[in-house]
Formats: sequence, C-alpha cells, structure tokens
Amino acid sequence: MMFATHIQGLALSELAEEYGTPLYLYDGDRLRDQYRGLRDRLHPAIRIFYSLKANPNLAITQSLLELGAGLELSSMAELATAQRAGATGDSLLFLGPGKSRDEIAAVLKTGARLIAESLPELDLIDEEARHQGVTAEVLLRVNPAFELKGGGLTMGGKPRQFGIDEETLLALDPAALRYGNLRVRGVQAYMGTRILDESAIVQNTRGIFDLAIRLSVKLGFELATVDVGGGLGVAYHSKERDLDVATLTDGLNPVIDEFHTAHPDTRLVMELGRFLAAPAGVYVTRVRYTKESRGDRFAICDGGTNHHMAAVGIGSPFRRNFPMYRVGSTAGDETAAWNVTGPLCTPNDTLAKAVDLPAGLTAGDLIGVTRSGAYGPTASPVLFLSHGYPAEVLVRDGRAHLVRRRDTVDDLLDRQSGLT
Ligand SMILES: *Cc1c(COP(=O)(O)O)cnc(C)c1O
Repeated sequence: MMFATHIQGLALSELAEEYGTPLYLYDGDRLRDQYRGLRDRLHPAIRIFYSLKANPNLAITQSLLELGAGLELSSMAELATAQRAGATGDSLLFLGPGKSRDEIAAVLKTGARLIAESLPELDLIDEEARHQGVTAEVLLRVNPAFELKGGGLTMGGKPRQFGIDEETLLALDPAALRYGNLRVRGVQAYMGTRILDESAIVQNTRGIFDLAIRLSVKLGFELATVDVGGGLGVAYHSKERDLDVATLTDGLNPVIDEFHTAHPDTRLVMELGRFLAAPAGVYVTRVRYTKESRGDRFAICDGGTNHHMAAVGIGSPFRRNFPMYRVGSTAGDETAAWNVTGPLCTPNDTLAKAVDLPAGLTAGDLIGVTRSGAYGPTASPVLFLSHGYPAEVLVRDGRAHLVRRRDTVDDLLDRQSGLT
C-alpha cells in the first residue's frame, strides 16, 4: 500500500498547497508499472484494453494508450476522449446496453468495434450501417449460463440487462444473425468486477473461450475477436490481498496459448479498468475541524464522498474503510479511532468510520486516501451540495500536470437559466 509523502520527489503537501484541496493525485510511474507488470508476463497474443469507465481522464487515457493499451468505451464523451488521445479504430471497443443511434453512427465512422448487447440492437446497427453504406463488424456480448465466483459482483447465470443470454443465442436459427450490413465477428463476455482470486480468473477465461467456440460453431460466424472481459481487482482492505501477477499469468497463459494455437487469427482482448487505474491515485482531503460527539472523534474535511463515493463501500456486503493515512505521519505516532467525514449535510458523507489515524490529528492536516485512481469523482455525486468536481493532477517524469481543473461556482451555475 502506498502511504507516500512524495510522488516522484514532489511533496504531497506542496502539491496540495499549489493546486488546493480536495484533489486527486495520480502517479504516472505507478500507472505504467501496473500496466507493464501484467503486460510483461501476460501471453503476447492477448491485448489489454483499458476501460475508461474506471477513470476517463484524458491524460490517464493518453498514458495507457501510449503504453500500448487499447481502449474500451461506453459513451459519446468516452469516444471523443479516445479520439483526442489519438486512438484509432482498431484500438477501440464500444459497449453498453443502451447505445443510442447517434452513438452507433459515430462508432461506425471511427472503425471501432461495436459490442452488441441485444437482438434489437443488432437490427439498429444493421440499419445504421446500411444508412452509411458500410458493413458493421460486431461482437456479441454474451450473458453466460455459468456463474463463476470470485468477484465482488459476478455476472453470469443471472437475468441481466447486459448481453444476450447464452441459451437464447444457442436456440437461434443461424439465419437470424444474417444481416445485409452487419457481420457477427466475435464474442465478448464480462464475468464481474473486483475479482481477487487468480484461479477464478483462469476459470472465467477458459469458460469464455469454450463459450465463444460453441457459439461460433452453432451460429456459423467467424471468431475474428474474442474479448474475455477482465474485472481484475485490487485489495482495498487488510482482509484482501492483491492478485499475484505471476500466479495469475502462470495459470492464464496456457489457457490463452491453447486457444491461440487452435485459432491463430483470432484477436484476443482483456478489458481492465480498476486494476490498471486504482493503485495510481490518491485522494487528498484537508481536515478543517476536529471534534468529539458523544465519545466519537470526527475529522471533518473539505472533501468527502461527493468526490469519493467508493469509500462508502458500495458494492460490498458491509462497510470497510479504504486505506488512508495522515500525510507526513511517522510509524510511531499514537493512533485513535477517527470518523473521517466531508462537507456534505448528510451523515452518509463518511469517508471512514473508526479508522486508525494519529490521535493528534488536527485542522490543516492532509489525509490521503490511497488506491483511489479508479471509480473516483466520475463515479461520485460531485454535484451534491454543489461543491463540484475536484482538481486532478498527474505527476509524470517528475513534473506535476493539472489534468483537470477544479469546478468553479460559475461552472456550476452557467448551465442553468433562471426564470426571467
Ligand atoms: C466496468 C466494466 C469493465 C471494467 O471493470 P473493472 O472491474 O474496473 O476492470 C470492463 N468491461 C465491462 C463490460 C464493464 O462493464
């Protein structure tokens, strides 16, 4: 875990002074190391795609694209981000259960691959491709019949709005997938998120390869691409442990190799969001007041769950604190149990409950919430109580770059028109 006072030689306290708090700090070296750590060991036949959903910041996207990742997108703005980052069609996948016709039209123009999530969507893609005079090559997102454990949120075997049920596809007449302007060219499945069990990932991947082969044989389409999803987790709590990349790839590579040997022309994809981005980010919030209420200690900070909803523990069966520390603390400091809260007028604005922080925590201190590079502000209610989006700073090659400026009051008000 990172309990850093510095990022690439730059003091967090000085960055907080310069850019203000609350802010997100990203370490470009950590991002690179996390990507390369997996890339260097993973079977070369499979390409890693970065899921912008985890952190759509343009500079983060550029960094991962530069390192060789493809990009997995789900909205018009994510598509525009990818294009601004300089990505071309063969590095892009676009999925999502509720694509608009405009999104489909824009994706077809880039040459990116669409991943279709329903039978009516296939009709719409075909219609739009005919309108553009092109042939759309699409992957089918499949909702597998099997469920695999090991994730915080598992996907297979349940009724879902995502993908087309495996049973439905296997019952189709192959003619049902014959379109004038659409070719099915592969399969995608996504088994869950926050998976921390190496063998579950290996099993997932094997299951998806088998499923892809069965579907392509039954329905008579070519497997130009198989996207095995991803959902690799990172540890947030002391009871969790990070994936061991060596163990993971030792299990995964033979499975990939077997498929690749039998299908050497199939492009293979793994999608990762959290695993790549989370370790690179720290959320820095400054203590404004400390007080006691009925025996509990509270540290009230200038930013809270409005920027870091994940700290509330959404998606976990019970609440656990994110890893956090007082910036500049030394190991010997006497600690106490603190509730770390933000500026919102709701008791839910609690970044941590009874977390061990120095007993002497005081107004002006900085708290760093680590592992915060994924599902941060874009997955948070940044407009709640109108505090707006925090600043984001990326440190690269020892230099800090403001990669998103903090929202101003005008940013928030300019989009409204009052009654006149
Ligand atoms: C959210 C999502 C991802 C990224 O998930 P992580 O757990 O952050 O890696 C990848 N693919 C799909 C289809 C998703 O919905």
